[in-house]
Amino acid sequence: MSRFDLARRRMLEGQLLSRGIKNARVLAAMFKVPRHLFVEEALQDQAYGDHALPIGARQTISQPYMVALMTEALMLEGSEKVLEVGTGSGYQTAILAELAAQVYSLERIDLFIEKAKALMAQLQYDNVFIRCADGTAGWKAEAPFNAILVAAGAPEVPLSLVDQLAMGGRLVIPVGDRRTQVLKRIVKERTGTSETAITPCAFVPLVGEAGWQYGKGEAGDQPEGF
Ligand code: SAH
Repeated sequence: MSRFDLARRRMLEGQLLSRGIKNARVLAAMFKVPRHLFVEEALQDQAYGDHALPIGARQTISQPYMVALMTEALMLEGSEKVLEVGTGSGYQTAILAELAAQVYSLERIDLFIEKAKALMAQLQYDNVFIRCADGTAGWKAEAPFNAILVAAGAPEVPLSLVDQLAMGGRLVIPVGDRRTQVLKRIVKERTGTSETAITPCAFVPLVGEAGWQYGKGEAGDQPEGF
Protein backbone atom coordinates (compact mmCIF):
# COMPACT_ATOMS: atom_id res chain seq x y z
CA MET A 1 0.00 0.00 0.00
CA SER A 2 1.33 3.43 -0.90
CA ARG A 3 1.11 6.33 1.54
CA PHE A 4 -1.75 7.71 -0.54
CA ASP A 5 -3.68 4.41 -0.28
CA LEU A 6 -3.26 4.57 3.48
CA ALA A 7 -4.35 8.20 3.58
CA ARG A 8 -7.41 7.27 1.55
CA ARG A 9 -8.29 4.47 3.95
CA ARG A 10 -7.98 6.87 6.90
CA MET A 11 -10.16 9.37 5.04
CA LEU A 12 -12.82 6.70 4.57
CA GLU A 13 -12.86 5.68 8.21
CA GLY A 14 -12.25 9.02 9.89
CA GLN A 15 -14.31 11.34 7.68
CA LEU A 16 -16.93 9.34 5.79
CA LEU A 17 -17.99 6.18 7.68
CA SER A 18 -17.79 7.98 11.03
CA ARG A 19 -20.12 10.74 9.77
CA GLY A 20 -22.75 8.43 8.36
CA ILE A 21 -21.88 7.93 4.68
CA LYS A 22 -23.36 4.46 4.12
CA ASN A 23 -23.73 3.86 0.39
CA ALA A 24 -21.25 1.08 -0.41
CA ARG A 25 -20.77 2.17 -4.04
CA VAL A 26 -20.01 5.74 -2.97
CA LEU A 27 -17.52 4.52 -0.38
CA ALA A 28 -15.84 2.24 -2.92
CA ALA A 29 -15.51 5.10 -5.41
CA MET A 30 -14.05 7.40 -2.76
CA PHE A 31 -11.56 4.66 -1.89
CA LYS A 32 -10.61 4.10 -5.51
CA VAL A 33 -10.20 7.58 -7.02
CA PRO A 34 -6.68 8.99 -6.40
CA ARG A 35 -7.68 12.42 -5.05
CA HIS A 36 -4.03 13.54 -4.73
CA LEU A 37 -3.75 13.65 -8.54
CA PHE A 38 -6.39 16.40 -8.63
CA VAL A 39 -4.33 18.93 -6.64
CA GLU A 40 -0.96 20.48 -7.42
CA GLU A 41 2.07 18.49 -6.33
CA ALA A 42 2.94 20.75 -3.39
CA LEU A 43 -0.51 20.04 -1.87
CA GLN A 44 -0.61 16.28 -2.46
CA ASP A 45 0.15 15.41 1.15
CA GLN A 46 -2.92 17.40 2.21
CA ALA A 47 -5.19 15.90 -0.43
CA TYR A 48 -6.90 13.46 1.95
CA GLY A 49 -7.35 15.98 4.78
CA ASP A 50 -10.78 16.96 6.08
CA HIS A 51 -11.03 20.21 4.10
CA ALA A 52 -11.29 21.85 0.70
CA LEU A 53 -8.02 22.89 -1.01
CA PRO A 54 -7.18 25.65 -3.49
CA ILE A 55 -6.96 24.65 -7.16
CA GLY A 56 -6.17 28.09 -8.62
CA ALA A 57 -8.31 31.00 -9.86
CA ARG A 58 -9.69 31.31 -6.29
CA GLN A 59 -11.59 28.04 -6.67
CA THR A 60 -11.39 24.92 -4.50
CA ILE A 61 -11.58 21.15 -4.70
CA SER A 62 -14.43 20.29 -2.32
CA GLN A 63 -13.90 18.59 1.05
CA PRO A 64 -14.05 14.76 0.74
CA TYR A 65 -17.05 14.49 3.07
CA MET A 66 -19.01 17.05 1.01
CA VAL A 67 -18.21 15.16 -2.22
CA ALA A 68 -19.41 11.90 -0.63
CA LEU A 69 -22.54 13.49 0.84
CA MET A 70 -23.55 15.15 -2.45
CA THR A 71 -22.88 11.96 -4.39
CA GLU A 72 -24.86 9.82 -1.95
CA ALA A 73 -27.78 12.26 -2.24
CA LEU A 74 -27.93 11.62 -6.01
CA MET A 75 -28.80 7.94 -5.34
CA LEU A 76 -26.91 6.61 -8.39
CA GLU A 77 -27.22 2.94 -9.35
CA GLY A 78 -25.03 2.86 -12.44
CA SER A 79 -27.32 3.45 -15.41
CA GLU A 80 -27.79 7.21 -15.02
CA LYS A 81 -26.97 10.12 -17.25
CA VAL A 82 -25.56 12.82 -14.98
CA LEU A 83 -24.91 16.54 -15.40
CA GLU A 84 -22.28 18.22 -13.24
CA VAL A 85 -21.97 22.01 -13.01
CA GLY A 86 -18.50 23.15 -11.89
CA THR A 87 -15.90 20.62 -13.04
CA GLY A 88 -13.10 22.41 -11.17
CA SER A 89 -10.33 19.89 -10.51
CA GLY A 90 -12.40 17.05 -11.99
CA TYR A 91 -12.31 15.04 -8.74
CA GLN A 92 -16.08 14.94 -8.28
CA THR A 93 -16.37 14.21 -12.00
CA ALA A 94 -14.24 11.08 -11.56
CA ILE A 95 -16.35 9.93 -8.60
CA LEU A 96 -19.49 10.37 -10.72
CA ALA A 97 -17.85 8.53 -13.65
CA GLU A 98 -17.36 5.54 -11.32
CA LEU A 99 -21.03 5.51 -10.34
CA ALA A 100 -23.08 6.49 -13.40
CA ALA A 101 -23.28 5.61 -17.10
CA GLN A 102 -22.34 9.04 -18.50
CA VAL A 103 -21.19 12.28 -16.95
CA TYR A 104 -21.62 15.62 -18.71
CA SER A 105 -19.67 18.32 -16.90
CA LEU A 106 -19.68 22.10 -17.43
CA GLU A 107 -17.04 24.54 -16.21
CA ARG A 108 -16.78 28.29 -16.82
CA ILE A 109 -13.02 28.64 -16.29
CA ASP A 110 -11.04 27.47 -19.30
CA LEU A 111 -7.90 26.80 -17.33
CA PHE A 112 -9.50 23.85 -15.52
CA ILE A 113 -10.91 22.14 -18.60
CA GLU A 114 -7.70 20.86 -20.18
CA LYS A 115 -6.36 19.63 -16.84
CA ALA A 116 -9.57 17.80 -16.04
CA LYS A 117 -9.75 16.27 -19.51
CA ALA A 118 -6.15 15.05 -19.24
CA LEU A 119 -6.90 13.43 -15.88
CA MET A 120 -10.00 11.71 -17.25
CA ALA A 121 -7.86 10.27 -20.06
CA GLN A 122 -5.08 9.24 -17.66
CA LEU A 123 -7.57 7.48 -15.37
CA GLN A 124 -9.38 5.98 -18.38
CA TYR A 125 -12.83 7.42 -17.86
CA ASP A 126 -14.30 7.32 -21.35
CA ASN A 127 -17.81 8.15 -20.14
CA VAL A 128 -17.06 11.80 -19.30
CA PHE A 129 -17.77 14.82 -21.51
CA ILE A 130 -16.46 18.21 -20.37
CA ARG A 131 -17.27 21.55 -21.93
CA CYS A 132 -16.65 25.23 -21.18
CA ALA A 133 -20.03 26.92 -20.68
CA ASP A 134 -22.30 28.60 -18.17
CA GLY A 135 -23.73 25.64 -16.30
CA THR A 136 -26.68 27.59 -14.96
CA ALA A 137 -28.27 27.05 -18.39
CA GLY A 138 -27.63 23.30 -18.19
CA TRP A 139 -26.74 21.23 -21.29
CA LYS A 140 -29.94 21.27 -23.31
CA ALA A 141 -28.81 19.02 -26.17
CA GLU A 142 -28.08 16.19 -23.74
CA ALA A 143 -31.12 16.60 -21.46
CA PRO A 144 -32.93 15.02 -19.70
CA PHE A 145 -30.60 13.95 -16.88
CA ASN A 146 -31.35 11.46 -14.13
CA ALA A 147 -29.15 13.42 -11.76
CA ILE A 148 -27.66 16.93 -11.67
CA LEU A 149 -24.97 18.03 -9.24
CA VAL A 150 -24.03 21.69 -8.80
CA ALA A 151 -20.69 22.26 -7.03
CA ALA A 152 -21.00 26.03 -6.53
CA GLY A 153 -23.37 28.08 -4.38
CA ALA A 154 -26.45 29.46 -6.16
CA PRO A 155 -28.64 32.43 -5.14
CA GLU A 156 -31.64 30.32 -6.17
CA VAL A 157 -32.35 27.07 -7.98
CA PRO A 158 -31.84 27.67 -11.74
CA LEU A 159 -35.07 26.78 -13.52
CA SER A 160 -33.27 25.41 -16.58
CA LEU A 161 -31.70 22.76 -14.39
CA VAL A 162 -35.07 21.67 -12.99
CA ASP A 163 -36.40 21.62 -16.57
CA GLN A 164 -33.56 19.34 -17.65
CA LEU A 165 -34.28 16.72 -14.97
CA ALA A 166 -35.88 13.46 -16.08
CA MET A 167 -38.99 12.28 -14.23
CA GLY A 168 -37.73 11.00 -10.87
CA GLY A 169 -34.46 12.89 -11.42
CA ARG A 170 -32.49 14.41 -8.54
CA LEU A 171 -30.84 17.84 -8.43
CA VAL A 172 -28.34 18.45 -5.62
CA ILE A 173 -27.37 22.10 -5.21
CA PRO A 174 -26.13 24.52 -2.54
CA VAL A 175 -28.52 27.50 -2.32
CA GLY A 176 -28.03 30.62 -0.23
CA ASP A 177 -25.88 33.76 -0.15
CA ARG A 178 -22.38 34.24 -1.55
CA ARG A 179 -20.62 32.68 1.43
CA THR A 180 -22.97 30.23 3.10
CA GLN A 181 -25.64 27.99 1.71
CA VAL A 182 -27.88 25.02 2.44
CA LEU A 183 -27.29 21.89 0.38
CA LYS A 184 -30.65 20.93 -1.12
CA ARG A 185 -31.99 17.95 -3.03
CA ILE A 186 -34.82 18.61 -5.45
CA VAL A 187 -36.66 15.62 -6.87
CA LYS A 188 -38.80 15.92 -9.99
CA GLU A 189 -42.14 14.18 -9.56
CA ARG A 190 -45.23 13.89 -11.74
CA THR A 191 -47.03 16.42 -9.61
CA GLY A 192 -44.14 18.92 -9.39
CA THR A 193 -40.97 18.88 -7.31
CA SER A 194 -40.14 18.01 -3.72
CA GLU A 195 -37.27 19.58 -1.81
CA THR A 196 -35.16 18.37 1.13
CA ALA A 197 -32.52 20.35 3.03
CA ILE A 198 -29.42 18.20 3.60
CA THR A 199 -26.86 20.34 5.44
CA PRO A 200 -25.46 23.86 5.83
CA CYS A 201 -22.39 24.36 3.62
CA ALA A 202 -19.99 26.95 2.11
CA PHE A 203 -19.23 26.74 -1.60
CA VAL A 204 -17.60 29.21 -4.00
CA PRO A 205 -20.22 31.24 -5.91
CA LEU A 206 -22.05 29.89 -8.95
CA VAL A 207 -21.38 32.64 -11.50
CA GLY A 208 -23.63 32.99 -14.52
CA GLU A 209 -26.94 33.92 -16.04
CA ALA A 210 -28.99 32.23 -13.32
CA GLY A 211 -26.24 32.56 -10.70
CA TRP A 212 -24.29 35.45 -9.18
CA GLN A 213 -23.24 38.40 -11.35
CA TYR A 214 -19.77 39.92 -11.25
CA GLY A 215 -18.57 43.38 -12.25
CA LYS A 216 -20.04 45.30 -9.32
CA GLY A 217 -16.66 46.79 -8.52
CA GLU A 218 -15.74 44.21 -5.92
CA ALA A 219 -11.96 43.82 -6.11
CA GLY A 220 -10.98 40.19 -6.42
CA ASP A 221 -14.37 39.26 -7.74
CA GLN A 222 -13.62 39.69 -11.42
CA PRO A 223 -14.40 36.74 -13.65
CA GLU A 224 -11.61 34.60 -15.04
CA GLY A 225 -14.00 32.81 -17.33
CA PHE A 226 -16.61 34.53 -19.40
N1 SAH B 1 -16.23 19.72 -7.90
C1 SAH B 1 -15.15 20.64 -8.06
C2 SAH B 1 -15.58 21.96 -7.44
C3 SAH B 1 -14.83 23.11 -7.93
S1 SAH B 1 -15.33 24.65 -7.22
C4 SAH B 1 -13.94 20.11 -7.35
O1 SAH B 1 -14.10 19.47 -6.31
O2 SAH B 1 -12.82 20.33 -7.83
C5 SAH B 1 -16.69 25.10 -8.22
C6 SAH B 1 -16.43 25.27 -9.68
O3 SAH B 1 -17.61 25.77 -10.28
C7 SAH B 1 -15.32 26.25 -10.04
O4 SAH B 1 -14.38 25.62 -10.83
C8 SAH B 1 -16.06 27.36 -10.79
O5 SAH B 1 -15.29 27.93 -11.84
C9 SAH B 1 -17.24 26.60 -11.35
N2 SAH B 1 -18.39 27.42 -11.72
C10 SAH B 1 -18.91 28.49 -11.08
N3 SAH B 1 -19.98 28.95 -11.74
C11 SAH B 1 -20.14 28.18 -12.85
C12 SAH B 1 -21.06 28.16 -13.95
N4 SAH B 1 -22.07 29.04 -14.06
N5 SAH B 1 -20.91 27.22 -14.89
C13 SAH B 1 -19.90 26.31 -14.84
N6 SAH B 1 -19.00 26.28 -13.83
C14 SAH B 1 -19.12 27.20 -12.84
